[in-house]
Amino acid sequence: MKATSPGLRRQKIILYYILVVVLPGIILGYMAYRGMRNDQALREKESQKKLDVKSQDFFSEIDTSLVRFMNGQTTDSVLNGAGRSDPSLLVLFVINTTGSKKLVSHKLLYLPVEWVTIIPEQLNHTISLKEGIRLEFTDRKYQDALRFYHNKILKPTNPDEKIQALVASARLYSKMNQSDTAKALYEEISKEFPGSLLNGQIPIGLIAGLEILKINQAKGENDEMRNNSRKCLELLLHPPSEYDENQFDLFYQSFKDIIPKTDPVIDSLFAELDIQGARTDNLIRILTGQELIAPNSNNHFKGSNNAISSIPVNSAELTALYLSVDKYNGTGTRIVIDFPVYLKSISERLIQKLDPDSSISIKIEDNSGRLIFSRIIKESTGYLSFPFPENLPKLKLLLSENKPRFLTTLLKAGSGIYLFIFILIALLMVLGFVFIMYTINIELRLNKLKSEFISNVSHELKSPLTSIRMMTEMLHHHRVQTEERKSTYYAAMLEETEHLSHLIDNILDFSRIDDDRKKYDFTDLDLDELLLKFLESTRERLPEPRIDIRYSRPDLIPAIKADRNAMLQVFYNLVDNAIKFSLTSRQIDISLFSKDDELVFCVKDYGIGISGKDQLKIFDRFYRGDEPQRMGIRGSGIGLTIVKQIVEAHKGHLTLESKPGEGSLFCVHLPVNKNTKQ
Ligand code: ADP
Repeated sequence: MKATSPGLRRQKIILYYILVVVLPGIILGYMAYRGMRNDQALREKESQKKLDVKSQDFFSEIDTSLVRFMNGQTTDSVLNGAGRSDPSLLVLFVINTTGSKKLVSHKLLYLPVEWVTIIPEQLNHTISLKEGIRLEFTDRKYQDALRFYHNKILKPTNPDEKIQALVASARLYSKMNQSDTAKALYEEISKEFPGSLLNGQIPIGLIAGLEILKINQAKGENDEMRNNSRKCLELLLHPPSEYDENQFDLFYQSFKDIIPKTDPVIDSLFAELDIQGARTDNLIRILTGQELIAPNSNNHFKGSNNAISSIPVNSAELTALYLSVDKYNGTGTRIVIDFPVYLKSISERLIQKLDPDSSISIKIEDNSGRLIFSRIIKESTGYLSFPFPENLPKLKLLLSENKPRFLTTLLKAGSGIYLFIFILIALLMVLGFVFIMYTINIELRLNKLKSEFISNVSHELKSPLTSIRMMTEMLHHHRVQTEERKSTYYAAMLEETEHLSHLIDNILDFSRIDDDRKKYDFTDLDLDELLLKFLESTRERLPEPRIDIRYSRPDLIPAIKADRNAMLQVFYNLVDNAIKFSLTSRQIDISLFSKDDELVFCVKDYGIGISGKDQLKIFDRFYRGDEPQRMGIRGSGIGLTIVKQIVEAHKGHLTLESKPGEGSLFCVHLPVNKNTKQ
């Protein structure tokens, strides 16, 4: 047989492991993975289809809502300006058969001049201040003018006259360098008449605000100026009454010139004004622009009784919907709605329609990717995009069905078969690995023991041979003079050869036992007689100082069926060990007795003893305890293995009691009158 090094063996075993376990594992795993991917692709397709249908539902729900919304806005109460204004409503106007427009409600910073409601009577009121104006501007008699204005304030003929007189007084105080009085008066005016228009055009709140700012600036009242600036800009951003674009531009520019740009709040108010200004321009274009063409031909809205048509508005400032509905009597309502605000206001209903069980993440973005609305169930990267239909602004609906986690996928996919395969593969690999490592370790330990055995046996063979050779040479060359010495030499040679022959017997037996070739010849055997003979010859070959081998047995020893040579080998191995491991102790007790149905043969020594750990292993092949090796006591590690095999072949068993340093007691228990293996 070719010997293989442990390293090579290990590589071979690992190679087999890879071929038999890892490779099939990887192939199976790959197949399971492919199966899962296919399943997943199928599910993704299904999910895509489902989301496609959902998105259509979503869009038709928007249509339905818009129809409802339009119907709500075309009621008489709304058109008469009494209805509640919807937050998404930017402009609502009515158009009659002659084509004239009536603005019902709006969210605009200013209006085109022709749309501002002008109160004609106001024009006449200014005339009554003529005298005061003459005194102030032509004669420059400020005190007289002031008195005149005061009179008008106290006894005005109409409310507008009072306002005009107040403004004029404040102006005069400014001219007379009484700025504190002027400021207080302006403050009073702006508080009392914030939304009123001077001469039907100029917003009084803004005029007063601007004048106060000028006074603040002149006096260096920075903190106060900052507060007033914010108030003025807020007023411009939320006009309390309708004024025209020129007024807006005028005040916007004046504020821009006077207000220093050092305050982030003011900066953001200006930015907001710019945005709202741009939106207003956009909406005014719609208000003053061409009408929607024949609503009947362009009815996109499902479920509408009225003819509704729409023009989507997509500009940087405004994502809106210009809707038109015509009634049977020829009048029509036109509405501009802020589409994102509208979507948010109906989002609850839309979500309810689209995804009642909260399993879909929803986002709505405009074309530049700005998020308009979102309802995220779980963060995901895989959104499917559905463009809004043509009758609505250009937005994208993004939907993502929540994907189950990897483990859930595994569990769901193919009724868990893939998970089963994965677990099986993993288990197989782990078990295979543990088994291989275990085998390798056993192999390696056995290999180590075997090589120790070979070196031990060689050593055991060599030392008796060397001494036999030495003594033979001396006898041969007649160097041994006396007969007595010669006889000692012969005895020693005899002992060495006997030892050798026992050793060889052991090795041969071991190999037979190992291959299961050992045959036993069971005969009726008187163990006592055999033992007496064995002990006689043993005592003879014992070296000086002799060990006292005591033998005790009862008078009657039953005969048993056993193999004579095998029994001799058991005696030899146990007694030889007792002698070897006695060290300085000089006594060995041997006993033979019958107990119950057993014949028991015991060897007791008082030598080095055996540790508990070693007691479990000494019957294993090649095992020699650490202690004998450390002390240099000869041996091969197969003696007890052979004893155990022989005893078991005789249907008996072995017992051992031992304590390190106190000695050992080995007992062989053999059955009496029992059939033994042939
Ligand atoms: P060996 O050739 O080493 O004696 P054995 O198989 O006969 O081989 O014994 C195995 C080991 O058991 C010994 O190496 C020794 O450690 C231990 N052993 C056996 N008999 C005794 C004993 N009587 N006293 C102490 N140790 C013993």
